[in-house]
Amino acid sequence: MTILLRSASAAVARRGAGAAFMAPSGVIFPPLATTTTTTSCASSSSPSAALLARRGGAAMWPFSSATRLFSTTNADTGINWRTQAPGVAKLESLAGMGDATFKGDLLVLPVFQPEEDGDDVQLAVGTQPILAAWDKVLGGAIADLVQTKDFKGKAGSAARVRLGKGSAVKSLTLVGMGKKSAFNSARAMGPAVATDVKAEKPKTVAVVLPGGDCLGAVAEEMLSGLYLDNRFKTGEGVEKAASVEYVTFFGGGGGGAAEGALEKAQAVSEGGGLTKELVGAPANYVTPKALADTARAIAEEYEGWEVKVMGQKECAELKMGAYLAVAQGSMDPPEFIHLSYKPKGEANKKLVLVGKGLTFDSGGYNLKAGAGSMIELMKFDMGGAGAVLGAAKALAALAPEGVEVHVIVAACENMISAQAYRPGDILKASNGKTIEVLNTDAEGRLTLADALVYAEKLEPDAIVDAATLTGACVIALGGEYGGMWTGDDKLAAALEAAATTKGEKLWRMPLAEEYKPNIKSEIADLKNVGGREGGSITAALFLQEFVTKKTPWAHLDIAGPVWNPKKGGATGFGARTLAQWVLTQASS
Ligand SMILES: [Zn+2]
Repeated sequence: MTILLRSASAAVARRGAGAAFMAPSGVIFPPLATTTTTTSCASSSSPSAALLARRGGAAMWPFSSATRLFSTTNADTGINWRTQAPGVAKLESLAGMGDATFKGDLLVLPVFQPEEDGDDVQLAVGTQPILAAWDKVLGGAIADLVQTKDFKGKAGSAARVRLGKGSAVKSLTLVGMGKKSAFNSARAMGPAVATDVKAEKPKTVAVVLPGGDCLGAVAEEMLSGLYLDNRFKTGEGVEKAASVEYVTFFGGGGGGAAEGALEKAQAVSEGGGLTKELVGAPANYVTPKALADTARAIAEEYEGWEVKVMGQKECAELKMGAYLAVAQGSMDPPEFIHLSYKPKGEANKKLVLVGKGLTFDSGGYNLKAGAGSMIELMKFDMGGAGAVLGAAKALAALAPEGVEVHVIVAACENMISAQAYRPGDILKASNGKTIEVLNTDAEGRLTLADALVYAEKLEPDAIVDAATLTGACVIALGGEYGGMWTGDDKLAAALEAAATTKGEKLWRMPLAEEYKPNIKSEIADLKNVGGREGGSITAALFLQEFVTKKTPWAHLDIAGPVWNPKKGGATGFGARTLAQWVLTQASS
């Protein structure tokens, strides 16, 4: 991710020719292998030859297993960084409103706001009949709660009360739906239910739906909201996870359609959960290899899925000089991941999802330094990879017909070392274009360049890439919106619709030809930064150089919404939207 600060005097460290590495353990390592300083053109027009020359011709990553003694990558700390699935054993849906017959731990009811401001919430039969029925069963508890909390049913509001053991339900929650005339989404019910489940730890839950076709959305949001990140805590810091025996949705319909909606909700929320799990874990756990292993696990578990992981040597054979240059400074070797799905029967669409997979972005020699550089958050620079792998997991569980899916991640780490690429280096990407590196922190687009070239060779019907690409996009759109660039109106509309369905926000930005000169280099074909102004646009224009105009392509810059700074956690952004987009393409 590039963050170009106004005052940034980019800290460009000098290459200390004979500097020794001091390991945290106090062990002093000699300069990395005597074979590594022989040539100076790290990433010249022939990456494979140059890289191999630097490694004395050995077809291996320059860091031997011995030098990895001081790696902080945790294989044996005993910490299981994989999250357990949210604790709901069973989901069911009933057609009716239950006639207020549910007995259990938690009851969640939707309440509409009165149409006229200032009016009180009506519990009268005929206005919100189900509330009236429940109010009777609960001995007036709803009317009481409405009054004591001055509850108006505004969208996003909730009122809670514990009724105790003598009552048919132990806890009652009212969730505001806003005015019925302006009602457009029941999605907010899901997080409200999740909040209660996390707090009350109920065994049995009943959720009355507000009407409309919202069963899947509410269930999906509820399951997503139950995500709990306990992985790196011990002892009293560990928050006890909910363990719900069943959740019953009233008014969601019964039969196959409802069952399908709940299955989809489960699959999609688990996909989003995988994204949170990957994005939320630090770089000493989520390494390029860990991303590759995640893809392998999906391929192993689900029918129709296959995975191919290419190392440095194979990528060099494909002349991926841009991607490999970024990777070469890290002790963790690059892992180019290609996960694919072939449905049973004919596929009439072939789609590719490409995710930026920088497991850590130090900025390289243009080190992220100083306030606002967010270097400590650069574990989330694989948010795009997290999103496409999460989408893959959701799709794997759903096994859509008629669509072939490819998921591609050029995973690596952008680090500083004697091996690292330098500002000023000229790289050659796998489509033959040369790139002058004016900033080693604009590395994501270099990895994506080769990933997009690879993606298009698959001759797909469309390519969508997701990347935490630029700080400029966060400046432009803030933390709620992902930026979207595409020259294809149909693709834009389909992605926007998918995002809206999933409650995620994308905003279309211009692929402004006027700014193309900004990424023209004096000495090479392209330069990898186009200045601060319109920085997210010139980044998109750079990527466009690696996809020919014949393939519909969209670029999503998700640097803003991928992380919730208030909660200090991953949002899972992108996974559900991308899965939804693939599903709609499958049926269109
Ligand atoms: Zn960067």
